[in-house]
Amino acid sequence: MKTADIRSAFLDYFRSKDHTIVPSSSLVPASDPTLLFTNSGMVQFKNVFLGSEKLPYVRAADVQRCLRAGGKHNDLDSVGYTARHHTFFEMLGNWSFGDYFKRDAIRYAWELLTGVFQLPAEKLWVTVYHTDDEAYGIWNKEMGVPAERIVRIGDNKGAPYASDNFWQMADTGPCGPCTEIFYDHGADIAGGPPGSPDEDGDRYIEIWNLVFMQFDRAPDGTLSPLPAPCVDTGMGLERLAAVLQHVHSNYEIDLFQHLIKVAGELTRTQDLANKSLRVIADHIRACSFLIVDGVLPSNEGRGYVLRRIIRRALRHGWMLGVRGDFFWKMVQPLVEEMGAAYPELAAKQSFVEEALRTEEQRFGETLEHGMRVFDEVAAKSGKTIPGEDAFRLYDTYGFPVDLTADIARERGLAVDMEGFDRAMEEQRDRGRKGSNFQAKGLMPAELASQLAPTTFLGYETLSSHGSKVVG
Ligand code: ATP
Ligand code: MG
Ligand code: MG
Ligand code: MG
Repeated sequence: MKTADIRSAFLDYFRSKDHTIVPSSSLVPASDPTLLFTNSGMVQFKNVFLGSEKLPYVRAADVQRCLRAGGKHNDLDSVGYTARHHTFFEMLGNWSFGDYFKRDAIRYAWELLTGVFQLPAEKLWVTVYHTDDEAYGIWNKEMGVPAERIVRIGDNKGAPYASDNFWQMADTGPCGPCTEIFYDHGADIAGGPPGSPDEDGDRYIEIWNLVFMQFDRAPDGTLSPLPAPCVDTGMGLERLAAVLQHVHSNYEIDLFQHLIKVAGELTRTQDLANKSLRVIADHIRACSFLIVDGVLPSNEGRGYVLRRIIRRALRHGWMLGVRGDFFWKMVQPLVEEMGAAYPELAAKQSFVEEALRTEEQRFGETLEHGMRVFDEVAAKSGKTIPGEDAFRLYDTYGFPVDLTADIARERGLAVDMEGFDRAMEEQRDRGRKGSNFQAKGLMPAELASQLAPTTFLGYETLSSHGSKVVG
């Protein structure tokens, strides 16, 4: 089943269950200044859960474009390392706004997976929140999932991939206990079942998360009940496609294989399983859709996340031997794969290409030189790249510090992040003591943003060195 057909089969199923099909919202949340990017399907419905917005329907389903490259959900550093994580991905979702609750949510999910998509029930595992006996009972007694494949899971204690059966979009807002459905890709892949010490592997892959949205979390951490309990589900389209296409990695599905093939041609790389090709294929989706949604490369906030992703992709191209521009040429195959589902992408193709090409040319001027500097620094540094050198790469060669850290990681090195922060602070102090052009409005905005001691505090906790303003 092609990825495009899975999208429509999902929507058809929920349409047949009286759900209203709604369009994907933008990657830039429309009315939520606390959130950097739309990281799940529920974002556009946040105010409906909170009770401050009313919709003319109580059941909805959609395919939501999501980005997890900053904020509470940040998978940027997993891309290329796991079979299942992207920065940009599509989330299939169904919702009940005060209508059905646990029983029907579980029933629909089970029927779709084992009935419509014909997945073998014995390959599916489920988790429930440790105290949720109701969900446990529905899975066990009504759906017939045997006790040995139902795992009770508590709160995540901060481990990045540990299962966490209490879902929250961010540190505040709607949240609740959840139940997750995993697919067992087979004994020849490393990794243990959910809840086990080696669950971080890629054998048991989480495909669907059903959240029983019941609480609103206040900034001080207290939970108050929502006006009406709701259901919020999210299933990764690419992960489901991998299962249905009998491949293990998301990168092996039809949609990605096309992108990877073109990336292979553009970079003259034969081995289509090369990690860099996967990263490039991932990043072209994130970058193109961010630009479609109005973000442009810049030195702060969302624009800086975009710049960081583009530069990471360009560095991977460089590693494969590209010495010129190539990344913007990936937009065409992306439009071929996704333009039908997202007409806004097709409509803005040349704008996206132009924006990427401009950034590519800008960074192309310093990438090569910066890589030479990196090699020199790495040769003399031992295990850790000093903060001042990371800062020099950032300041003179336009290497975002996470890019430097990523190159270092590939070579088994670390970066002194505290030293980097100190060097950055010192530069800001110098900027403060220096001229006050900016106050007089004499400096172009972009230059000013590079020099100004801006602290970017508007969004939810930003991953350190993530989207906080550096410049
Ligand atoms: P994981 O534990 O594998 O990181 P998650 O629990 O963080 O996934 P959810 O927040 O529950 O994911 O999101 C709902 C669904 O979206 C997941 O079950 C998965 O199918 C999909 N998904 C989540 N993150 C990604 C990602 N980075 N790339 C692709 N699909 C994803
Ligand atoms: Mg995750
Ligand atoms: Mg999970
Ligand atoms: Mg989950």
